[in-house]
Amino acid sequence: MAIFLGSIADDYTGASDLANTLTKNGLRTVQTVGIPDPSLALPDVDAVVVSLKIRSVPASDAVAAAASAERWLRQRGAGHVLYKICSTFDSTDAGNIGPVTEALSDAAGGGIVLVTPAFPETGRTVYLGHLFVGGQPLNESPLKDHPLNPMHDANLVRVLTRQSRNAVGLIDLACIAAGAGAVKARLDALRTADVTTVIADALFERDLETLGEVALEMPVSTGASGLGLGLARALVRSGRISSGGATTADAIRPVGGLSAIVAGSCSTATLHQLDIAERSMPVLRLDPERLLAGPDEIAAAISWAGDRISTGPVVVAASAAPETVSRLQSLYGREASGHAIETATSIITAELVERGVRRLVIAGGETSGAAVDRLAIPAFLIGPEIAPGVPVLRTIGNAQGDMLLALKSGNFGGEDFFTAALAMMH
Ligand code: ADP
Repeated sequence: MAIFLGSIADDYTGASDLANTLTKNGLRTVQTVGIPDPSLALPDVDAVVVSLKIRSVPASDAVAAAASAERWLRQRGAGHVLYKICSTFDSTDAGNIGPVTEALSDAAGGGIVLVTPAFPETGRTVYLGHLFVGGQPLNESPLKDHPLNPMHDANLVRVLTRQSRNAVGLIDLACIAAGAGAVKARLDALRTADVTTVIADALFERDLETLGEVALEMPVSTGASGLGLGLARALVRSGRISSGGATTADAIRPVGGLSAIVAGSCSTATLHQLDIAERSMPVLRLDPERLLAGPDEIAAAISWAGDRISTGPVVVAASAAPETVSRLQSLYGREASGHAIETATSIITAELVERGVRRLVIAGGETSGAAVDRLAIPAFLIGPEIAPGVPVLRTIGNAQGDMLLALKSGNFGGEDFFTAALAMMH
């Protein structure tokens, strides 16, 4: 299997978001969970997205994991590797976007790297290096209250500079609007000024098409699904993709079994989706303090779900509003509380699968990562899109038999996302 495009995603929902975009734009794509075991039979594809869980780990661990994934992808023929980050640039000042990008650049011989989290379809745009989420600058958006990576600065040149060894540049919208030639000329000028990473503006898909065309000629780029769109369209335009495009129907053949929803995201969107779900299905709100105190709350949740699940889908949620999250974090620490809750939601998820759940929706990037790891699912085929950025996924090589999943990044999906997702899974 030789692939054209490789990607390393810093979390699992981000990986399926990107895989969805690549599929929609004509690339046959699989999502692997980590570097697959050599015995795993993967279908013939144009692109592979290796999902890692490195958004919120120490930078040195993130660099080591990304470097192994890069080697694996290059060995399979990937001429370009996209480091897939969140479209809200989730990271701390000690965080991983700068170090991983620089390490991937070093591994590819030291070239300059385009970086943009823009994804206009989901309201993420970058102008003069500033990231906007919907109508708000990043630091005024709900991301300022993220439990793990609160974002307090919308100026991405500044954010990336604080994480980087080398200088960070900017390619502004005026340059991008002037076309690929202008972008390349600007990159040449920045190279002579020893800049290694360059934040690129983008408001519209046409900007991402220009950036994708330029990036495809370089070995590495860093961005969200928007840049994936640009790269996929550039690859298709180049005539190198001869597969005749991607299809998603095979991925949603019925799997039967029971269905459940597990939520650990505390995003505004997820909190609202939970309120809406409460109108049509049983929702258990976990008590986060009791979850941290010992195993009783987990056992109670499993028993609660066990009593109801045979008659229809159930929802189990750790999610809470920012005030509750802050209180818990001040008692137990940000990472410790986040990690403990992820462990708890992953145990509950695994127990639900043990009891026959085969159709599963998980809300939250880290939450999904912990659950998919505990289930030891090796890879996914990409099915049709439920909402922008969230496809139905079908397991490949899963020990419990075929399952359908939706891994939802916190901010994604409309208010009826949970019922919409289950309606597409049979
Ligand atoms: P998102 O996709 O919205 O960023 P994540 O799952 O990546 O969601 O991150 C949410 C984090 O918040 C996880 O670490 C999760 O365990 C943690 N969390 C969930 N519920 C609570 C809570 N009630 N209090 C504190 N942290 C929580």
